[in-house]
Order: sequence, then structure tokens, then C-alpha cells
Amino acid sequence: MTTVDEPARTGPVEPVAPSVPRALVVGAGIAGLAAATSLHRAGWRVTVCERAPARRTGGYFVRLAPSGVEAATRLGVDEGLRSRLPVDGVVTGVDGRGRTTSRVEAAIGDDGGSLALVRGDLEAALWEGLPDEVEVRFGTAPESVGADGTVVLDGAAHRWDLVVGADGVRSTVRGLVFGPEEEFRHDFDHVVISAVLPRLPGELVEGDYVVLVEPGRTAHLMAMAGHDPVVFFTYRADLAQAAGTAPAERPEQALRAVYGDFDGLMPEILDLVAEAGTTHADTVGQIHLERWSRDRVVLLGDAAWCPTLYSGHGSALALTGGEALGRHLRVADDARSPDVPGALARWEAEQRPGTDAARSAARRARHFFLPGNRLVAAIRGAALRVASWSPVARLLR
Ligand SMILES: Cc1cc2nc3c(=O)[nH]c(=O)nc-3n(C[C@H](O)[C@H](O)[C@H](O)COP(=O)(O)OP(=O)(O)OC[C@H]3O[C@@H](n4cnc5c(N)ncnc54)[C@H](O)[C@@H]3O)c2cc1C
Repeated sequence: MTTVDEPARTGPVEPVAPSVPRALVVGAGIAGLAAATSLHRAGWRVTVCERAPARRTGGYFVRLAPSGVEAATRLGVDEGLRSRLPVDGVVTGVDGRGRTTSRVEAAIGDDGGSLALVRGDLEAALWEGLPDEVEVRFGTAPESVGADGTVVLDGAAHRWDLVVGADGVRSTVRGLVFGPEEEFRHDFDHVVISAVLPRLPGELVEGDYVVLVEPGRTAHLMAMAGHDPVVFFTYRADLAQAAGTAPAERPEQALRAVYGDFDGLMPEILDLVAEAGTTHADTVGQIHLERWSRDRVVLLGDAAWCPTLYSGHGSALALTGGEALGRHLRVADDARSPDVPGALARWEAEQRPGTDAARSAARRARHFFLPGNRLVAAIRGAALRVASWSPVARLLR
């Protein structure tokens, strides 16, 4: 992930009444920035701490579902968000020998109102909309967090009225307050690696979307408008080719081992990834917790419910969840703190159905996304060939 040299924000210039409740948001990702804006609007004095040394840019492809676009609108950050892929584009399926196996109109999968973005677009829009009064500290992560809101940050202990753990699927806040990740993580035994390429491979032109597929291995390449091309790979962690590789530590090497036998565009894509480096490399897994809050600490976004990339809703849920926090935690006119545990319980009851549905959808979709064996790959291929046939495409549209 690349970063932009954005100065930290020092927070309010005007004095703030000492009685105004204070919130610490851990993580300046999509969920954290959405929560910071909505809590500020609800009357909180907000500080954000982000482990990265500066604001992150680019990253990987993100399709923002309509519910996420609506949340961005409510937060007032939708204006700069523009889809980077044409709605009338074509998604071309290619096999490991470089042969075209399907050509499906992108409009078939369009749910009317989603946006094709890169993760950095969303973070940039949220950063732009962040009120000046919100303090942001980069290069900082909590050393300890207590359920009562006591946090050690930059070597000093402070008690916050609310702590929001928006620090992603590998959440430190979750580990410190709720328990070790193994208790909550449901692994799909898939690996995901993404990269931003310095230029387009082969004859591809802006707007192209190519999916390279073999059983247990896929790569999605998007030639996005006004942005360098993005690619992400997903493959089964138990493939023979993956044995002995360390994708999180040496992703480029792992990709060579797993995709080295592909023909067509792949050799050039692998060279471009080696040139540019990767932006994300991890295994794919969901997070399942019985409760997302404990006393004054609440988890949000992937830290709480990670549905995985297969749901296509992770960023929308991070936005809607963050935006809803402020609605439930409104500070009274006399600056009295709301009943935090009660408000968090109501917020959670509202958010649960959407996150449950997204996680179920991801469990089903992973087989289509990454066909595990030849049979599933053949069924998937046949379905796409049928969808490529224009009378069927018209019907589906
Ligand atoms: C390859 C890929 C493709 C995806 N495609 C889609 C898609 O098409 N549609 C979709 O809706 N979703 C998609 N997702 C999922 C989506 O990106 C996530 O659900 C979403 O980014 C979650 O946002 P978040 O803010 O909760 O977490 P994150 O985006 O992970 O942000 C967490 C932030 O916390 C910071 N942080 C971490 N630890 C600490 C710490 N200890 N202290 C301080 N800061 C910390 C991180 O640096 C980061 O800035 C995709 C994900 C991947 C990996």
C-alpha cells in the first residue's frame, strides 16, 4: 500500500468544554474515518490513531454496493466518488493457457448504483470530509486497551468515554479486549494478494476486465479509468504449488510458484507485480463474535465482522456501520455522555442482519469466485458461457 504525505491533524483549535465526551478511533481505514465523522457530528470530541505513517492510497479494487454509496451520501463524501469501470463493459474469462472461455456483459452483475473504485478513492473521500476538529495521529497504535476505555497510547495512559476498534481483520483492539484471533476467525484456506501495476499488460485497454482462472487459482485484472491497473489473485492455500511459500512475507515469490505455469497475459502480469510490489497479502477469513462491544470498547468493520472480499459488501458495511455509530451515540445538549453500553447494544442489533447476510453470501460465493476443483470449474465455465450468449444476456439484464 502506498501512502500520501498528509500532515497529521491536531484537532480543535477552539477550546472544548471538558465535559464533552471523548472517543478514540483506532484505525483510519474506511470504518474508522466514517465513525470519526459521524461521532464528531453527534457531539463527540474525536481522536483517530493510525498505525501507518501516513494516509494510505490506491490499494486494490473495491466495488462499493449501493448501501455504501447511500452511507457515503449521508456522510457528505459521495461527491468525488466516480466509477472507474464502464457499466457497459465486458468481463473476459481466460484459462491458464491464455484461451478466452467466456465474455460476459458487466451490466448483468450490476445492481444499479454500485461503484467500481479503488480502496484509496474511498479513504481519500472520507479524509476530505473529515471535520477539522478531529485529531489524527499517524504512526501510532495502542499498547494496551481496557474494556473501561483506558488506553495506553504513545506511552501515556488515558481513559476515553468510547474506544472504537476499526483496525481491520487482524485487529489489535480485538486481541487486547475480546481474546485471541483464533477464537473468532473462520478461515477459508484461501490466499489473496493484490497489486497496482505500473502499466497495462498485452493489448488491454482502459475499461477491460479480465479474469484468469484455473481450478483453485484466479486472477482479476481491471484496467481502471484514471488509475493504474489493479490486479488481485486468490488461490487455495493447500495447492501443491503453494507448498513452502510464505505469501504474507514474500508475496511475489508465492505468485511465481502458484501462477508460473500460466500462459497468455500471466507472465507479463507477474513481471509487472515484481516491478511494482504488492499492496495486500493475507489469507482469507471471516470474523464471528457473539458481541461486538464490551463496556466502552466497540469493534467496527472488518475488526468486528469481516465478511471477506467474496461478499462484495465489506466496504459498504464498514461505511454504514461507522455512519450509524454517531446516530446511536448522540451527545445530549448539556454535553452529558450518552449511555454508551446501551447505545452500542442498539447499534449492534441494527447492524447484525446486514453483516450476517454478507457473511452467508460470501460463504456461498467463494466457490464461484475460486472454483476449488475441475468439476466446480466446469460448472462455473458452463454458466458463464451460457451468460455470454446474447439472448441469455438480454434476459439476465
Ligand atoms: C483484495 C480485496 C478486494 C476487496 N474487494 C472488495 C469489494 O469489491 N467490495 C467490498 O465492499 N469490499 C471489498 N473488500 C473488503 C474491504 O476492503 C474491507 O471490508 C474494508 O476495507 C474494511 O474496512 P475497515 O476500515 O474495517 O478495515 P481496513 O480497511 O483493514 O482498515 C483498517 C485500518 O486500521 C489500521 N490499523 C491496523 N492495525 C492498527 C493498529 N493496531 N493501530 C492503529 N491502526 C491500525 C490499518 O492501517 C488501516 O488503515 C476487499 C478486500 C480485499 C483485500
